[in-house]
Amino acid sequence: MAEAKVLVWLTNQLRVKDNPLLCAAQKISNNIVIINVLDDLFAESSQFGIPKMSNLRKSYLYQNLLDFNKNLQEYNINLHAYKGKSDKIILEFCAQNSITHLVYPMEIAPEENQIQQKVLQSIPSTIQTVFVEDGFLIPTEQAPKKLPDNFTKFRFMAEKNIPYPIENILVKKQNNCFTPNQNFIHWENTNHNQFVVPPGETEALKRLQFYWWKSDNISLYKQTRNGLLGDFSSKLSAYLSLGNISVQEVYRLNLAYEKVRGMNESTYWLFFELLWRDFFRLTLLKRGNTMFLKRGFNNNILPDLKIDKSKFKQWINAETKEAFVNAGMQELNATGWLSNRSRQIVASYLINDLKVDYRLGSAYFEHALIDYDVCINQGNWLYLSGYGNDPRGRRAFNMKIQQQNYDPNQKYIQYWKNLKTTI
Ligand SMILES: Cc1cc2nc3c(=O)[nH]c(=O)nc-3n(C[C@H](O)[C@H](O)[C@H](O)COP(=O)(O)OP(=O)(O)OC[C@H]3O[C@@H](n4cnc5c(N)ncnc54)[C@H](O)[C@@H]3O)c2cc1C
Repeated sequence: MAEAKVLVWLTNQLRVKDNPLLCAAQKISNNIVIINVLDDLFAESSQFGIPKMSNLRKSYLYQNLLDFNKNLQEYNINLHAYKGKSDKIILEFCAQNSITHLVYPMEIAPEENQIQQKVLQSIPSTIQTVFVEDGFLIPTEQAPKKLPDNFTKFRFMAEKNIPYPIENILVKKQNNCFTPNQNFIHWENTNHNQFVVPPGETEALKRLQFYWWKSDNISLYKQTRNGLLGDFSSKLSAYLSLGNISVQEVYRLNLAYEKVRGMNESTYWLFFELLWRDFFRLTLLKRGNTMFLKRGFNNNILPDLKIDKSKFKQWINAETKEAFVNAGMQELNATGWLSNRSRQIVASYLINDLKVDYRLGSAYFEHALIDYDVCINQGNWLYLSGYGNDPRGRRAFNMKIQQQNYDPNQKYIQYWKNLKTTI
């Protein structure tokens, strides 16, 4: 019988270390190749005319793939990255390379799911398909069966019965390469290469070491996490969103650190934020399309928000009346990243002061954020607009108080005001 040939279709699992999809593939055969497709759907615009991916985001992904490919070479595994229609590309790839098995990840969001279903329907039934879950702190099988809408209730349930972390998964070196590795990325770079969070698995692993072991900054996380400038938080979001590190890896490291250097409220708070991440992932699994409706999934009756393109433009272009908000939008536009505090401030301003439909803000974050994660982004926008998980409804941030508390000397405002003229 001919040897099995396994195609591993990776989306946001761009890592060698602790990758259950690669391990599942290697259990079938030592003859594996990886494919990643930037689907045409993401080259389109959202319903509000906002391109789904900025050039900066595309570049970030491109450079992630370069790093991933380099790391894979040590394991004799090839990566092929395409841009186009996933179903057409994967079907052709399978036919040309006599693929016998397709290993693919769990997709949570409706659009990603739709792409996946099309692929699965298009490939011949002779190809065996293997589905592998990734990206959860609590594997879905062990997550609360009846997911509450309230995070605190979820947290209590999750903390009572901790089945994690899962053991580290080791990928083996292959004896041979599956296909020649020429022109492995079949799309162009957009030439942006200066990122606040350097892309890829190699940098992600360095960041973990630095934030926990080298700097001990994790031990102050609870006090610093609302910062705006400097090394105030883990800066792991892009790595987690693209799957450059597994959430299990972060959790294992946090536990190891607690064992050696001691547990404190900061190490707990980092875990707490990872639970929030899981909570929004599970919420999207439960709520599906209703997470994207004008009044979200709870359909609360609240003051109406409008699709006001002119106010929205002011917000995007950092030209609002509020200097603190403008600084945040300037940072977002320049870097594709924002602190959690700044995300809350600019989002609250759009919703409560400009009274613009939260879906425009969410679509702009999708466009701009290098760490864009559909579950976390939509979950947070819904939460702030009162149409999601927050039982207290819509809550407005007072901009003056926020600035007094978090930027009393206007360092953040000045920093981005000065850079605005040079970017
Ligand atoms: C309107 C809005 C939109 C957001 N969109 C995204 C997004 O698209 N992608 C994204 O990764 N995060 C998003 N966040 C959550 C949060 O702002 C970022 O994860 C965080 O600022 C990234 O910095 P960090 O990695 O240093 O976080 P840390 O504070 O060090 O937290 C560690 C990790 O916990 C998770 N986490 C932290 N805060 C949250 C939160 N509020 N909800 C869920 N998980 C969280 C992230 O994976 C993060 O990397 C959004 C928040 C808001 C208010």
